[in-house]
Amino acid sequence: MQKGFEFVQVGRAIVRDPDFVNKLQTEEINATDCDHCNRCVAEMANKGLVCTANTKGLKTKEYKL
Ligand code: SF4
Repeated sequence: MQKGFEFVQVGRAIVRDPDFVNKLQTEEINATDCDHCNRCVAEMANKGLVCTANTKGLKTKEYKL
């Protein structure tokens, strides 16, 4: 990012782990472990926008739509 990106878009990686960007910055991780299953999209109307595949006990955050 320090090499001049003007725009970065992040979607499901943040749904998967709300601390995703902070973890990238501290180099705790270098990629998301979101598997792009889209179950969060399928369950959005029922559960809000949360990672429904969260099996690692990651902190979750409910986003208002
Ligand atoms: S439900 Fe699947 S696609 Fe959605 S954030 Fe979780 S792992 Fe990613």
